[in-house]
Amino acid sequence: MKNFKRFNIILLAIVLSLSLFGCGTNNSENTSVDSTDTPDKDKQQAQEEIYDVVVIGGGGAGLSAAIELKGAGANVVVLEKMSFLGGNTLISGGELNAPDTWIQEKLGIEDSIDQYKEDTLKGGDYKADEDLVTVLANNARNAMEWLRDEVNVSFKEDYLMQFGGHSVPRAAYPKGGSGNELIGKLVDKAEELNIPIKTRVKAEEILADDNGKVNKVVAVDEDGNEIVFKANKGVILATGGFGSNVEMRKQYNAEYDERYMSTDQPGTTGDGIIMAEELGAALVGMESIQTYPACSPETGVLSYVADTRFDGAVLVNKEGNRFVEELDRRDVISKAILDQTDAVGYLVWDTTIKEKSHMDNYMQEFEQLVKQGTLIKADKLEEAAEYFDINVEELKETIGKYNEYAVNGKDEDFNRRGEIVGLTKAPYYIQKVAPSVHHTMGGLKIDTQARVINNEGNPIPGLFAAGEVAGGIHGANRLGGNAITDIVVFGRIAAENVLK
Ligand SMILES: Cc1cc2nc3c(=O)[nH]c(=O)nc-3n(C[C@H](O)[C@H](O)[C@H](O)COP(=O)(O)OP(=O)(O)OC[C@H]3O[C@@H](n4cnc5c(N)ncnc54)[C@H](O)[C@@H]3O)c2cc1C
Repeated sequence: MKNFKRFNIILLAIVLSLSLFGCGTNNSENTSVDSTDTPDKDKQQAQEEIYDVVVIGGGGAGLSAAIELKGAGANVVVLEKMSFLGGNTLISGGELNAPDTWIQEKLGIEDSIDQYKEDTLKGGDYKADEDLVTVLANNARNAMEWLRDEVNVSFKEDYLMQFGGHSVPRAAYPKGGSGNELIGKLVDKAEELNIPIKTRVKAEEILADDNGKVNKVVAVDEDGNEIVFKANKGVILATGGFGSNVEMRKQYNAEYDERYMSTDQPGTTGDGIIMAEELGAALVGMESIQTYPACSPETGVLSYVADTRFDGAVLVNKEGNRFVEELDRRDVISKAILDQTDAVGYLVWDTTIKEKSHMDNYMQEFEQLVKQGTLIKADKLEEAAEYFDINVEELKETIGKYNEYAVNGKDEDFNRRGEIVGLTKAPYYIQKVAPSVHHTMGGLKIDTQARVINNEGNPIPGLFAAGEVAGGIHGANRLGGNAITDIVVFGRIAAENVLK
């Protein structure tokens, strides 16, 4: 499983599309966190295995929960339907927010739990469950420290990202700027703890006993064999969102139909939501689906090269004009892009901005985009503009005006927050971008103990949920960097409470 660390995001995108449950080859290395402590080895013919807790989903939330559970002495198993672990967490940037961290202290950034909470509530249009946001904010720093100290995740020690909607930089940047660092280290930890992990095993149904307590998961392996996983203490759902399930997207919000591609890995099909609904689970915020503004218009894949936006790149349309503040919320920028000619935007940056960004981490993607024809590098701005048939004269005027704003320190048109960087140093770059479905804010209703709540407002005994499968934490819109915080915070909380 250490192979994960060698994956790069581009290769991964190809692998992902080939690795849907049942479509890949049998890679025993991936299924091999040795289950020496499987308690009923001698009953394997009966196709029933007995554990304290069954965790469904081997992404960031599931692995965090499993590690905490094993650390607390519980007998836990992780079921993962794909041939590899990691889910969306693996292909994510891995950046996570927390206030009052050691990195903020080093950089002299003033922040507070209350400010983080307020930014998160406001970013979600005050539609989030305030109690859940309070838990997120109160436990965020601890989650980041747990990743550093217990899981050995390396963060850049002198840098923080400021995603849209946050009032200060507070997102820690893992080594390599990708979820590889998180998943690689979580998997190492799971191996060290001998946690049994079953890849290519898809949970299909959750069962409860006569008293309504959840106690079993029915799953199928890659050969179609049914396996019943008995869960004496309970089940944690960590199956991620439903961004890759177009029918489900349309069911809850007709806007997000086939016209939209997705940034997600193909396993984000909402299975956990569907299974829990059968047990009467309540859903919240299902209509709230987020698009990410800067993705490849050809594949829908999220572009890390386009993170130049956070370091100063300017967003224009085919007419050569700016049309939105580049650091506004994802939903605002996405909608603004869709209103432009061809429903695309063009990010423009120069060499100064390129040097500020962490482009070295994403050179493979860079080359891929050039090959795809969605990124151009040119000695002259005019040359780059002509490649995309952008109005050259208007663009020159736009950039000229923007460079004056950089000198004066104020963006007169869109009041861009943060530093305004002039575009003056050749070569220049232009990247064509479009929005793609990225995150599903809605999901299972949970309480502050990560218990799944039913339609009568009561916890379903023995059923817990953490991560993107749960709703209510991000309201109408998730702020960048808040999902990774969410999955670690609530993954650990679910682990703590399932054992009570
Ligand atoms: C390209 C990209 C970049 C992102 N970057 C960031 C970022 O930098 N910061 C941030 O905060 N957020 C980011 N996000 C969002 C964040 O990555 C996700 O919200 C988060 O990783 C979800 O974690 P999870 O554990 O809930 O689900 P996942 O990591 O998606 O894991 C769920 C797992 O459950 C498995 N599963 C599903 N159904 C079943 C079943 N029936 N049986 C068994 N297994 C099942 C899936 O295959 C998957 O492996 C990004 C998302 C994407 C797509």
